[in-house]
Parts: sequence; C-alpha cells; structure tokens
Amino acid sequence: MAVDQVLADGLGGILSGDEWTVEREELEAYGHDETEDLSFLPEVVVRPKDPGAVPAILELAHRLKVPVTPRGGGTGLSGGALPVRGGIVLSLDRCDRILEIDTGNMVAVVEPGVITQVLQEEVERVGLYYPPDPASRGSCTIGGNLAENAGGPHAVKYGVTSDYVMGLEVVLANGKVLHCGGARRKDVAGYDLAKLFVGSEGTLGIITRATLRLVPQPEERAVLLASFSSLRSGLDGVLAVFKGLTPSACELLERDAVEAAARHLGRPVPVPGAEALIVMEVDGFTRDDVERQMVTAGERLEAAGAVDVRVAMTRKEREELWALRAATGEAVKAISTYKEEDCSVPRSRIGELVMGVKEIARRAGIRTICYGHAGDGNIHVNILRMDADEATWRDRLPAVIEEIFSLTVKLGGSITGEHGIGWTQRRYLPLQLGPVEMETLKAIKDALDPDAILNPGKIFPG
Ligand SMILES: Cc1cc2nc3c(=O)[nH]c(=O)nc-3n(C[C@H](O)[C@H](O)[C@H](O)COP(=O)(O)OP(=O)(O)OC[C@H]3O[C@@H](n4cnc5c(N)ncnc54)[C@H](O)[C@@H]3O)c2cc1C
Repeated sequence: MAVDQVLADGLGGILSGDEWTVEREELEAYGHDETEDLSFLPEVVVRPKDPGAVPAILELAHRLKVPVTPRGGGTGLSGGALPVRGGIVLSLDRCDRILEIDTGNMVAVVEPGVITQVLQEEVERVGLYYPPDPASRGSCTIGGNLAENAGGPHAVKYGVTSDYVMGLEVVLANGKVLHCGGARRKDVAGYDLAKLFVGSEGTLGIITRATLRLVPQPEERAVLLASFSSLRSGLDGVLAVFKGLTPSACELLERDAVEAAARHLGRPVPVPGAEALIVMEVDGFTRDDVERQMVTAGERLEAAGAVDVRVAMTRKEREELWALRAATGEAVKAISTYKEEDCSVPRSRIGELVMGVKEIARRAGIRTICYGHAGDGNIHVNILRMDADEATWRDRLPAVIEEIFSLTVKLGGSITGEHGIGWTQRRYLPLQLGPVEMETLKAIKDALDPDAILNPGKIFPG
C-alpha cells in the first residue's frame, strides 16, 4: 500500500529500517486483534524498540493529521487495536523492559510492552505479587491492560488494573510527554491524571511507562470445584460463598461451557448432567488459614445445593481444576461464530442477569453460553450464531444485544466490565451513559486530542 511520502520520510528520520514497515503481510497481521473476524488495513506499522521514540512519532502524526492506533499484544475483545481509520498502527510490543522491581517500596516500573505473565513471574521470584490476571495474561501486555483497565479471576479479592497504578508516563497526541504519580503512596496534588488514562483505550495518550503497586505473594492456595444440578442453585452458591469470606477467585460456568471446555481438553466433565459449576480459589499465608476457608466455603456451597464438591491443594491438582475454566473461552469460540458480551452488575444481581439473558435468548430463538467472573458480577455472555444465515444473524443480533444491555443497566450494571467499548460496543454506550456523561467524555477527548488522531473511531458512537 502506498504510504504518504512525507510520512515515510518522517518515520525514516526517527526510526531504524526494522522499526517500521509497509509490507502487506505485516499490515495484515496488525490489522486484526482477537475481536470476532474483524480486520482493517493500516498504512504503516511502527514498532519502536525504545519508548523514547514515541514523542517524535506522535509529533509527526499530529503535524500530518495521521491516525495512530496504539497496540500491545493484540488480544483485545472489543476491537480497540483495530486501525479502523487506517494510518499508523503503533505497536509497543518491543518496548518490553522491566525497568525496576523495588522491593522496599513494593513497586515495579515497566515499559508498556511487558507481557503480564512475565511481570507476574518476575515479581514472584522476590516474594511479591502483581494480581491483575486477565485469562490472556500469557500474551497481553501491561500497556493493553492499562488501556482497558483489565480484570481477571483474581479481581474479586485483589481488584483490577487501576487498583495497581501508581504512576504513568504518557505521550500526548501532540508528542508532549506527561508524567503523573510515581512510587509515592499518597499524592493529592491536582487531578488524578494517571487514573484518567487507565481504561481510556488508547484514545487520550500513549502509555510509555508505568509504576505499578505490588503486594506480598500469598504462600498458600487451594481450589474448589462445586457442581450444581441447576443454574439457579449455582448462582445462589456464588452469593452464599461471600458471607464472611473473600475468595481469591470465584468463577461460574454454565453446563454448555463446562461441556465445551471438557471436550476441548479431551476429558470427562466433572459431574455428568450438572447444570452449573463454580471454580473457586482461596489464598492466604498459612496452610491452616487456607484449609479453614475451604471448609467454610464447602459448607456454604453444599448448603446452597452443590451436589459435588472437590478440593485441590497441591499446585498440580489446582492447575488441573483451573484448566477447565482456562479452556472455556477458546472452547466456546470453537463451537460457532459468536459475539461475546461482557456484562457487569452488582454481585447480588447476577442471578437476575443470567436468568434474564436466558429468557431473552429463549424468546429470540438464539443460543447463549454464560460463564465468567461471577464473584465480581461480571459475566461473559456468548451469543452463538450456530446455523443462522448471515442476514438473519446480522439482523437479529443488535436487538438481542440491546435487550441484554438494557437489562444489565436496569440492574445497576455496566455494558462492559473489562473488555472495553472499543469499536464493537460504541453504538451501545448511550444505553448506559446519559447526555451529560457523554458530553463530559467528549470534552476530555477534545481537550487532549483536538484533531482526533488517537485511536479514532473508538468509544464514541457514530
Ligand atoms: C482468551 C482471552 C481471554 C481474555 N481474558 C480476559 C480477562 O480475563 N480479563 C480482561 O480484562 N480481558 C481479557 N481479555 C481481553 C484482553 O486480553 C485484554 O483487554 C487485554 O488488556 C488487552 O491487552 P493487549 O496488550 O492485548 O492490548 P491490545 O488488544 O493490543 O489493545 C487493547 C487496547 O489498548 C490500547 N493500547 C495498547 N497499548 C497501549 C499503550 N501503550 N498506550 C495506550 N493505549 C494502548 C489499544 O489501542 C486498544 O485500545 C481476554 C482476551 C482473550 C483473547
């Protein structure tokens, strides 16, 4: 694809030859993420080895009014990294140095391209823990996690990415560099700008460095698998667990999700015919404490109707139980073309959400599979196309999604708990946010990126 000569000359002056490309194959590789089968071609892919090059790249793009779509690991599920208006894909994946692990202040300073799991493993070596753990942690990056405010199974006890952000370096749309926060625990000088960029999906600035809070690594963990003969009792089980106990993870899978995951792994389901499964983890610093929590949880789950409860204490056994949950996403996606929604409600309302989704699906004659971070009230609703033809699928889908989101909002929830609005959900944002909220978002966007070069086409409808 022809790239504007002024842009090419400019990039050539900033980067070495292997840091940017217009090769068709590369453009295609960076034209999609993990969102459905969507693909858009950028004009150029830029992959600097050093974040120090980002200000000059942005200054150039700003001068030429060229769209810039930042990208980390490309694992996003709302199309945030798709270059929907062409221009530059700015991939930060090579800026992947862990600059410091400061055990005294319990912080890590990292570049944005660090793979989440790599950071977790590095801090574990010194007895520390970086809890935000999206299921994609082996391939997503800290930059992408920050931009999406990623969560994961352990958010139920430890919180999401924003709970670990202490400071950021951000390159603004005009190439200027903004520093906010740092290793200090307390700071109320001015607005909390770091938090403004968390969850901004690459539309307000490019994150080039982050200072992240760490906590002590729990020394003991145990995992429990509880099967239920009805979805309703599984949902009741989730609520029962939290009376006086905070598990470190509490995931729910409905029967179709369990069967798909078991098939995917080539294993039998834990309890044939069970309609729901809870995968729960507790952690702590002593074996006694963890065992006590497990006994309490087991009793609560049995009282809520669990027909089978099994516990894993050793690392190997725990990993085996977790494997089922870990395989669910891929397994469900392998069934059919799908659309994944990411509904988040107050925990006490998950029963109404899941049963409501089932009722909407029954009326519309479509198949849904629900699973996810039930302890957070965050359920992934997968709407499966199955054998519907293209026209029926495209015609029927928006109304079904709208109904599911309207229910979510009515229950006090959000249309996305962790995947972001990105490209695919922007038309639904006004279902949740009113005119004042939308105007405020737009005012912030216009103030920081008046020429709308940063990840254009994202978040805002239209
Ligand atoms: C199998 C699977 C499981 C998943 N499980 C979870 C889960 O449990 N929890 C969860 O929250 N998500 C999950 N996700 C979604 C996805 O992994 C997360 O949204 C993740 O945070 C994206 O990180 P990334 O590095 O891949 O970012 P990308 O997909 O590359 O980009 C995501 C967004 O971040 C922006 N961005 C990237 N880097 C920067 C930067 N340096 N500065 C500014 N903006 C930037 C992009 O423009 C885009 O808008 C899952 C995805 C898959 C495929």
